[in-house]
Amino acid sequence: MIGQQHGNEPAGGEAALALAAELSGGSSAQVLDHVNVLIVPRANPDGAYHFVRGLKNGGDVNRDHLLLGTPEGQTLGRVFVQYQPDIVLDCHEFGVKLRWFEKFQSLQKYDALIQYATVSNLPRALTDASEQMFRQPLLRAFDQAGLTHSWYYTTSYDMSDRRVSMGGVVPDTGRNIAGLRNAVSFLLETRGVGIGRAHYKRRVYTHLTAIHSILASTARNADALLALVRQARKDVANAAGTGEIIVSSVASTTRHTLDLIDPQTGTDRHVEVDWRSALEIQTRLKRSRPGGYLLPASEGRAARRLRDLGVTVLQLAEDASLDVERYRITRAEESKKDDVRRNEEEGSTGVVQIATATEAATVAAHRGDFYVPLDQPLANVIAAALEPETQSSYAANRLLNLPKADVGQAAFLPLYRLPAKLKAAALVWDGN
Ligand SMILES: [Zn+2]
Repeated sequence: MIGQQHGNEPAGGEAALALAAELSGGSSAQVLDHVNVLIVPRANPDGAYHFVRGLKNGGDVNRDHLLLGTPEGQTLGRVFVQYQPDIVLDCHEFGVKLRWFEKFQSLQKYDALIQYATVSNLPRALTDASEQMFRQPLLRAFDQAGLTHSWYYTTSYDMSDRRVSMGGVVPDTGRNIAGLRNAVSFLLETRGVGIGRAHYKRRVYTHLTAIHSILASTARNADALLALVRQARKDVANAAGTGEIIVSSVASTTRHTLDLIDPQTGTDRHVEVDWRSALEIQTRLKRSRPGGYLLPASEGRAARRLRDLGVTVLQLAEDASLDVERYRITRAEESKKDDVRRNEEEGSTGVVQIATATEAATVAAHRGDFYVPLDQPLANVIAAALEPETQSSYAANRLLNLPKADVGQAAFLPLYRLPAKLKAAALVWDGN
């Protein structure tokens, strides 16, 4: 359970402490017979101290779970590597007035918004378990407690953009990366940003209600959940070199009715909106799933980030001539990171939007080059980091050394796909 990745969303952190008190006080002994509970109560201490969303450097740790570019992101990454949680609950709060009043002349009503991981390449069995084993009982628990709820949604800070989006489908949030780590993963948000400590007990109670439900579901299904997650890890590893991998995708647009509140009268208001649904993801680009990726020895920075994610990285023990696919850059443009929030004041990060064409080639690989095999449980995390076209990729975020293209000359990424297993001796890289 992770609390307060965003500093001005305190109810999740408070609920984490309440949970710790309960568990250590012996009142949840039966749960602890079946479940090991790991609590990160305050993932963003600087933001909490200053009561702001972002980190000390202004960045958003909840968009840093693939890049691990911040100390907080790296710390959470280490927790994931060390403990390999089977189910993750990420606790946040959402804004009550800002944007909703300007766009819809209304206030937010729901107590709780929830969403599980919605990202391409996620094993289907994890989504099914999220829905059946966890979300359905959770909704019943909210109903019994008299708490209103909905899928998670947000809207951008662009006041002319009246679309409402479910949580994103990009592999960068804690929710989606935990999913690609083959865990059942939930985002939980309570109605709390911008209202100080108003309704604080209710907000913390909402989080605790959800935590109790998810813990109970976990304890009840402990064996089934463990078997499911282990199978997902095995299946992902076994898929190396076969089938396809989705490189980029988008949410689909539909219509949806929100229950909001009329600020004058306090009565309910049903507002129909354009709704970007993360439950139906449309594929934009896919490629064959490689056996692994080759990175020249010069790409130690990217190799290290992968290792920080818990990926096994090998190093070639000998020179070898390898049949690969290389990435010819067809477009590379400076761009700004897009997000369902699109808040200009948060100073969105600059990225390089890259398009490539893959083509067969034979390369002279050298002793010391990095080989990242996909026959490991984090294969879908690796592909999210290395396939270059998405804004969360290592290429887009300049964690790869991008070539300076001379006019009229083809430029290639320092990254190669190996269709099948590596045919050269390689040893596990120790990171030095
Ligand atoms: Zn948040």
